[in-house]
Amino acid sequence: MERALIKIHGIVQGVGFRPYIHRLVREYGLNGNIKNTSSGVELELDGEKSDLERLVAEIPRRAPGLSVIESIEPQYGLPCAGFESFEIIKSKKEAFRNTLISPDICICDDCLRELMTPGDRRYHYPFINCTNCGPRFTIIKDVPYDRVKTSMCSFPMCPECDAEYHDIENRRYHAQPNACPACGPAAFFLDADGTRQAEGDEAVSLAKGLLKAGKILAVKGLGGIHLACRVDDSAIAEQLRRRKERDEKPFAVMCRDVTCAGKYCEITPEEEAVLTGSRRPIVLLRKKHGMEAKLLHLSENRYLGVMLPYTPLHYLLFGETFDALVMTSANLSDTPILHRNSEAVEKLRGIADGFLLHDREIQTRCDDSLCMVLDGGEYFFRRSRGYVPYPIRFSDREQFPPVLACGAEQKASFCLTKGTNAFLCQHIGDLKNFETYEHYREQIRHFQRLFDIEPHAVARDLHPDYLSSEYAREISEQAQIPLFLVQHHHAHLASCMADNRLDGDVIGLIWDGTGLGTDGTIWGGECLTGGYEGFLRFGSIKPVRLIGGDRAAEELDRVAFALLRETGADVSTWENAGLYEGMITSGLNCPLSSGMGRLFDGAAAILDIKHIASYEGQGAVLLEAAADEMETGLLPFELVSEKNILLFDWRKTVAALAEYKGHGIPTGQLAARFINTLIRMAVMQCEAAREATGLSRVVLSGGCFQNRYLLQRLPEQLRKCGFTVYHHKRVSCNDEGLSLGQAVIALHQLGKGKNVFGSST
Ligand SMILES: [Zn+2]
Ligand SMILES: [Zn+2]
Repeated sequence: MERALIKIHGIVQGVGFRPYIHRLVREYGLNGNIKNTSSGVELELDGEKSDLERLVAEIPRRAPGLSVIESIEPQYGLPCAGFESFEIIKSKKEAFRNTLISPDICICDDCLRELMTPGDRRYHYPFINCTNCGPRFTIIKDVPYDRVKTSMCSFPMCPECDAEYHDIENRRYHAQPNACPACGPAAFFLDADGTRQAEGDEAVSLAKGLLKAGKILAVKGLGGIHLACRVDDSAIAEQLRRRKERDEKPFAVMCRDVTCAGKYCEITPEEEAVLTGSRRPIVLLRKKHGMEAKLLHLSENRYLGVMLPYTPLHYLLFGETFDALVMTSANLSDTPILHRNSEAVEKLRGIADGFLLHDREIQTRCDDSLCMVLDGGEYFFRRSRGYVPYPIRFSDREQFPPVLACGAEQKASFCLTKGTNAFLCQHIGDLKNFETYEHYREQIRHFQRLFDIEPHAVARDLHPDYLSSEYAREISEQAQIPLFLVQHHHAHLASCMADNRLDGDVIGLIWDGTGLGTDGTIWGGECLTGGYEGFLRFGSIKPVRLIGGDRAAEELDRVAFALLRETGADVSTWENAGLYEGMITSGLNCPLSSGMGRLFDGAAAILDIKHIASYEGQGAVLLEAAADEMETGLLPFELVSEKNILLFDWRKTVAALAEYKGHGIPTGQLAARFINTLIRMAVMQCEAAREATGLSRVVLSGGCFQNRYLLQRLPEQLRKCGFTVYHHKRVSCNDEGLSLGQAVIALHQLGKGKNVFGSST
């Protein structure tokens, strides 16, 4: 007999891991104990070495579904402790915290069955959960993960719940948020003035009645509050848009189940798997043929964002009553999602006609994740609830110092690294909004506390005026740590490399709207070569004058004017032509930009698809929506070498677009030809880059790669020409994923991370 000390790291807390070990140990007839530590769990057992070894080998094989084991470190041959039973002992706080925290997980099938079973003591109880499901990240205030460190701390368990909590045979054994109607949180309904009307089932039926009557309901979810209304009446959706000041941005829809979702959208088996999985993101699904017009008031493009219910309260609200409901974040133009009851009642006055709320506090805001399904997996537009704070892992062959990367600005994000983990934040929003900036700063502090991270270096975007850059400077000065400046598109390239666990050098097609280049101009249609250590600007696009700077991103005719003017077309009869001409010739507030996003905007305006954008990237979204998927034709273009950069000269392309439009060629065909032309151009740039460097791996990053038409055709064309193509898999292709790239580049600057992923090149 001997004793073994077994340390297990990963997501092993709050996921039923200790009860699982308990059952396993009992099968082996061994004695000892297990405890949560700040770095995972620690198991001590007396036994014969062969038994102990067999048990250790068995641990990963049958581990609970939500657990993720990163490493198991057994230490054998210790003196026997003489344990007489197996016991789960109280958490101990270690100096070095390294616990991974589980994201929030949707209600499991067992809990759902109990929720709907009359006579069950949790029948219709909206806060039913167990070790396999329920809130995690959004209720945790601190680690180790114990009830007192969550927003459940104000709900002491009743004797019955307490008995379940201590019963190893029970599914709720050590389920920290365990609760029942006798002891746990309660749901309640408030009228438009915030006056409490009812609790429990009655609250839910009042909420249903409100929705049925065509009113707008505020309903509290896991990471924030939603506004809900019926989907089948465009007047109601329009009213919600007006009240929310949401103009034309698509609404997400929550469907009762996959069958209901199938009434509106095409669903592939891969999409169904993501839709029904335990993370419950909003999945962009193709509208069903014949449904396009009926769903136009929800989404103006070919796709509809659909999610399934994920909390017990959602299930109760749907019941058999609704097939689908609009479910949009409750916030006002770019402020963070509302998450506190009092704040909701105050700020949604005049917007919500009633409130279905509850008294379990949301500790941490977390918006719904948004993705499409690509190559069988999630392709994120927004990686948030259900995924955060699960880390991206580096190689464990090197020791990495902790760093903080501060992201960009409009789609803000941060990334904190520690050891072999990179933690990316949830969706934050646009920092130019004051409350969002506050939220950003607060979340950086929260993540630092949760994961016990004191950064040794800070990385920021090259752009000096981003608020994230200001924050990075502040932190670097306060903590007296080095500050690294990372060029925007280099960070994108590194982010997509890190996302795919690549080391070495690659070709990067980095297409987005805006990012400051090393030459002081705005970049964004880049073909870069390089890796974490640095990059070369191999190719780009001929810059465009942005008349009025940022205003050109909203008034797309300004871009169209500047593009057509360069082709020699007569634009003197345009509205504001004199003003634009004067601005361009004087150079006043007309920065040069090689942003690909603006080229899409300009094309959308020339084709009369969109003239005024009500949200970022709308021109590109609608151009994609218009593109005829059968069209394979191209438009003329040139690639020219200027100062050793291979530039896409779009003048002939733009001239042809306008000319063909004049000839009455359908818009859909021209939109497709325009994107096909960009694809052809990109392949030629990559071929030239391969010729010059020998590189044949291509990474795709930047917000333009949210365009499905582009994303489905460009990799195919590149592969035909012998390239290996990588797109994002675990982080967003837009600026929300960029902080990961900044972090890896900073690690490299610190002299670490030559081989961040331990992959040979
Ligand atoms: Zn459950
Ligand atoms: Zn109870």
